[in-house]
Amino acid sequence: MNETVANLQRVLGEIASAAREADRAPGDVRLVAVSKTHDADSIRPVLQAGHRLFGENRVQEAAEKWPGLRAEFPDVRLHLIGPLQTNKVHQALGLFDVIETVDRPKLAREIAREAEKTGRMPDCFIQVNTGAEPQKAGVLPEEADAFIESCRKEFGLPIKGLMCIPPLDEEPSLHFALLREIARRNDLTELSMGMSGDYPVAIAFGATLVRVGTAIFGAREPYPAG
Ligand SMILES: *Cc1c(COP(=O)(O)O)cnc(C)c1O
Repeated sequence: MNETVANLQRVLGEIASAAREADRAPGDVRLVAVSKTHDADSIRPVLQAGHRLFGENRVQEAAEKWPGLRAEFPDVRLHLIGPLQTNKVHQALGLFDVIETVDRPKLAREIAREAEKTGRMPDCFIQVNTGAEPQKAGVLPEEADAFIESCRKEFGLPIKGLMCIPPLDEEPSLHFALLREIARRNDLTELSMGMSGDYPVAIAFGATLVRVGTAIFGAREPYPAG
């Protein structure tokens, strides 16, 4: 078996056992296979193995890889999990089914406007900067309720859930618990949290989507500077 496919099967097995341990149905947790930096030939075996849900963090990179793969596998679902600039919204709506990183009014407004023009509205998640890290994207936890409300009422976006990336050097469970609490009080059912290093913990805290790259595709080459 292809090594990436073996990794995929192992991760799916670990997701199922983490769900069972948390008294959750295995189907409650879906795997977003994060294929950033890996080329189409590395991704194809995972598609051939039947997996359909993928995440990319850069619009330009997705534009180079995914139209071709979608032609081969039309039922692919692609999530944008990286920051989105307003001038790339038009392109992003043509590529992604779900935008997980809505985090500011200007971006929400632009998504609403482009969706109106193109008739193509993506499902949206609000990214919450649970660690209030200055360099990290996401709305601050204390501003999340108001922002969710304005995304719904003012911009009419279909907000499905919340997403977070905990600080590297902190216990992730505190951040997962905070995200779950913000979702609960805003009647949001989807929680995108957990990466290669911590997805079983995220599942114990209610993740419905885990975003796993390295554990499936192996280590990434760093992006070139700039
Ligand atoms: C790269 C990335 C992931 C996957 O990280 P791994 O540690 O490789 O599993 C998940 N979420 C986001 C937002 C990412 O950018």
